[in-house]
Amino acid sequence: MNYYSLKNASPEVDFREATLRGQAPDGGLYFPRSIPHYPEKFFVDARKIPDVELASLIIKPFIGGAIPCDDVEEIVAETLNFPLPLVPLSDQIFSLELFHGNTLAFKDVGARFMSRCLRYFVKSIDRRIVVLVATSGDTGGAVADGFYDIPGIEVVILFPSGKVSRVQELQLTGHGKNIHALEVAGNFDDCQRLVKTAFRDGELNNRAFLTSANSINVARWLPQQFFYYLAYKHWPYEGSVPVISVPSGNFGNVCAGLLAQSSGLPIDHFIAACNANDTVPEFMRSGVYTAKKAVHTISNAMDVGDPSNIQRVLALFNNELNSLAKVLSSVSIDDHHTRQRIAEVFNKSGYILDPHGAVGYVALDDYLESHDTRGIFMETAHPIKFSEEIEPLIGSKIPVPPILESLPAEHHSQRMGTDYQELKEFLKGFG
Ligand SMILES: *Cc1c(COP(=O)(O)O)cnc(C)c1O
Repeated sequence: MNYYSLKNASPEVDFREATLRGQAPDGGLYFPRSIPHYPEKFFVDARKIPDVELASLIIKPFIGGAIPCDDVEEIVAETLNFPLPLVPLSDQIFSLELFHGNTLAFKDVGARFMSRCLRYFVKSIDRRIVVLVATSGDTGGAVADGFYDIPGIEVVILFPSGKVSRVQELQLTGHGKNIHALEVAGNFDDCQRLVKTAFRDGELNNRAFLTSANSINVARWLPQQFFYYLAYKHWPYEGSVPVISVPSGNFGNVCAGLLAQSSGLPIDHFIAACNANDTVPEFMRSGVYTAKKAVHTISNAMDVGDPSNIQRVLALFNNELNSLAKVLSSVSIDDHHTRQRIAEVFNKSGYILDPHGAVGYVALDDYLESHDTRGIFMETAHPIKFSEEIEPLIGSKIPVPPILESLPAEHHSQRMGTDYQELKEFLKGFG
């Protein structure tokens, strides 16, 4: 399988190159040259195939020989090391819980998959691989956990001092070994600027192989298709096809669902559920795309004003908004309604939503008001990560999952200012 740049000004590359580079040299996102298509019979049989086997079948054409088949199966098995249960909230609404991984967020799947692909590719690189990421909280934890103790790869994570939650900080700093957490005396934008400067620094890049683990990397994007195939497999109503509502920020997850649907996976309709950051709902309403400045909400992992993956979404539909609109709706749900419905759902059913899943839930519930069908919303994070917000709303304590009790209590991090030279000196240590 080859990948081309959506800006069309860079050469095509294979899966290995696309993963190592992250983004094409022209600044475009990589997109698969062709999309596999499966006949109806495949999906009938798929229900009987074990999860890891099915996921491996799906991802293999995208890897296209860049990793041998046996290794792909091992990577997929290590990626899907936690359950993704489909939990009914009512006759009509199911929660696809994607938060049972080590860092209690769905990003664990993409991060684990990518880290293991890089572990394979590291063998053919003559320099040390340094994965460099800036995080506002969630991504860093998933990357730290996914890459922990992977031989040949050093991970450097920049996070803004005092601006991540306690759980997030423990997830970033608890590992040590090949995970280097840098606590930057600044905000997230400072961290991002430092990382971008390092990627442009020729001297540094000659010493070590710098790569990013951000969500536009194909090795993080593509395995998110697993959620949709496994949801289909475990959907209890064989005669009907669900609507799927996806809490969306950078639109990587929902785009993976649309990709799976282009391969023939039966899904009735998609809802891209956004918080107050309504760039895409506005785009679909007006036909004009206007990037906005992100606003802060309680579902902060979705605070994105200019979602990168909208380019991939449009590419899937030949840039025809009308064809896209037949398959995807996008709505914006504000914090006020999100809070209200979190309390309502808890009082009615005892189910505890997190602020991100709640946006997906509300969008689905609203949709079902006028559509006689059933649906799934994705619960992308465990509510305990947002206990300060959720507990007062439900008037009750959230049970602590065992994985949190076993979080390492050690603290490995180094403080750093916002001056680039300081980061450069640190990174030179890997050259
Ligand atoms: C990243 C994230 C999202 C948004 O996913 P995208 O693929 O960026 O649209 C939703 N919920 C949680 C908890 C996240 O961490």
